[in-house]
Amino acid sequence: MSDTIRSVFGAAAATARRRLAGMYRQLFINGGWRDGSDGARIEVDDPATGDIIAEVAGGTPADALAACSAAERAQKSWAKVAPRERSEVLRSCWQTLVAHTDELATLIVSEHGKPLADAKGEVTYAAEFFRWNAEETVRIRGELAIAPSGANRILVHHPPVGVVLMITPWNFPAAMITRKLAPALGAGNAVVIKPPSQTPLTALRLAELLSEAGVPDGLVNVVPTKTSGAWYDAAVDHQAVRMVSFTGSTEVGRVLLRRAADRVLKTVMELGGNAPFVVFADADLDAAVEGAMVAKMRHSAETCTAANRFLVEAAVADEFTARLAEAMAAVRVGGGLEVGVSCGPLIDAPSLEKVSNLVDAAVSAGATVATGGTRLDRSGYFYAPTVLAGVAPGSPITREEIFGPVAPVVSFTDVDQMIDLANDTEMGLTGYVYTRDLSKGLAVSERIQAGMIGLNRGALSDPAAPFGGMKQSGLGREGSTEGIYEFCETQYIATSW
Ligand code: NAP
Repeated sequence: MSDTIRSVFGAAAATARRRLAGMYRQLFINGGWRDGSDGARIEVDDPATGDIIAEVAGGTPADALAACSAAERAQKSWAKVAPRERSEVLRSCWQTLVAHTDELATLIVSEHGKPLADAKGEVTYAAEFFRWNAEETVRIRGELAIAPSGANRILVHHPPVGVVLMITPWNFPAAMITRKLAPALGAGNAVVIKPPSQTPLTALRLAELLSEAGVPDGLVNVVPTKTSGAWYDAAVDHQAVRMVSFTGSTEVGRVLLRRAADRVLKTVMELGGNAPFVVFADADLDAAVEGAMVAKMRHSAETCTAANRFLVEAAVADEFTARLAEAMAAVRVGGGLEVGVSCGPLIDAPSLEKVSNLVDAAVSAGATVATGGTRLDRSGYFYAPTVLAGVAPGSPITREEIFGPVAPVVSFTDVDQMIDLANDTEMGLTGYVYTRDLSKGLAVSERIQAGMIGLNRGALSDPAAPFGGMKQSGLGREGSTEGIYEFCETQYIATSW
C-alpha cells in the first residue's frame, strides 16, 4: 500500500484494504458463517481496475430457505423484547457502525468505486438510520376510540409483520440495507437480505458488525447469490415470509411484485427515477450550478435521486450550460482511493456501454457536447463528466435513467410546457426546482409528480424525511415516522368495559 493511500485513509482503512486481498466470505445465517450448499462462489471486482478483489459464497434456494427458517425462530423471541431494549440494540448498532466508518467506507470504495468522501458520507447516512429508528422504536403508537354507536371501544395496535425479505442494489452497498433493516428490527421483525452480486462485501461485514453490536443470532441473515431469480422464487414461498422490501430498478421491482402477489405479501418498492432539474431565469445561477453538481454527481452519478434532465428557461440556458460545463470539466475522475478524486468509475462494463450509447445517440440526433462525451482511456469503467446542450425534448437520454455523469440540457420558454415535459415519464421519484421566487417554486414543486422535491436544494435524503416515489418509482416510504410502520401490521380489537 502506498504512503499516499495510507495517509488519505488512516490506519483502520489501510488495514481494511490490505485484508481485502484474497478475501473469501461465507454466507451469514443464524449468526454463523457457512458455505453455499452447492459450493458456488461469486467474484467481486474493483470497478476502478476490473480486477477481482474478493470472492463470496453464492447461496442456493436451499440456503435462502434455511435463512428464512432461522429468521422465523429468532423473530418469535425478538417480538417479545421490550421496545426500549430493542431501541438500545439499534442505538448500539449506530455507535458500532460510526466507530467503523473508515473501514466500511474503504470496503464500499473497493467494490463500488465511489470516491472515499462519498463512501464516508454513505456510512454516516447508513448508520443514522439506526439512531433515528432507535428513537422511533419506542414511539410506535396505537389508537383508542369509541365506536360511533357507543357499543364498544376500538383499540388499534401495530405488531411486527414477521419475516421480511430484503433485496438491495449496488449503488449504496450499506445505506440501502440499513434504511430498511433498522426500522424492520425496531418494529420487531427478522430479515433475510439478498445483497447485490456486485457489492456483497459491505453487506456481509455489516451483518458481522451488527452481531457484535448485540443483534441476536438469526435476526439478520445475509445470503448473496448468483441465481437471484431462483433464490427469490424459493424464499418468497417460505411460509414465515410476510413481506418483501426491495430497492432497485422498476423492471426488477415489477417481477418481484408479480411473484409476491402469489402469497399476497406486503411490499415496499423503492424503484428507479428520472428526475427533472428545473432552472428558472430568476434563479441564483451560482446556487443552481452548485446544486446541479450535487444532484448529478454525488456517488459517481449513480443515485436514484440523480438529476436526469436539466430543464432550463431559455433566457439563461446558454449561461447555465456554460457554467455547468465548466464545473463538470473541473471534476477529477479516477479510482475512489486516489487523492482529489470526486467522481469514480461506473459499476461495470454494461453500464459504461449504456451511458456511452445514450450520449452517442443524443449527439447523432443533434445535441452538442459542451464538455466530455467520451470514455476515459484507462482500465476500469470510466466515463468523462459530460454536458449536452440543445437536447431534443423526449429524446431517449431524457427518458432513460442515465446512471452516469451526463447532464442533458433541454430549454423551455413556457411554464406549462415545462411541467408537461417534467411529468412526461412513468417515473416519479425526485425533482429539483431553482428560482428566487419562493411562491413560484412551491407552486411548481406541487405540480411535479414526484415523491421528493429539492427546492433550491441539490440534496434531499434524510432519515427523518419520507423517502419514496410516485408512479412507477415505487410503493411505500422509507425513513421518517412512516418508515417503521411499513414493517408493522395493524390490528384492531373491539372491546368494551
Ligand atoms: P436491479 O438490477 O433492479 O437489482 C437490484 C437487486 O435485485 C439486486 O440485488 C439484484 O441481484 C436483484 N435482482 C435482480 N433480478 C432479480 C430477480 N429476478 N429476483 C430477485 N432479485 C433480483 O438494480 P441495480 O442495478 O442493482 O440498482 C440500480 C437501480 O436501483 C436504479 O434503477 C436505481 O434508480 C434504483 N434505486 C432506487 C432507489 C430508491 O430508493 N428508489 C435507491 C437506489 C437505487 P443481482 O445483483 O444478483 O442481479
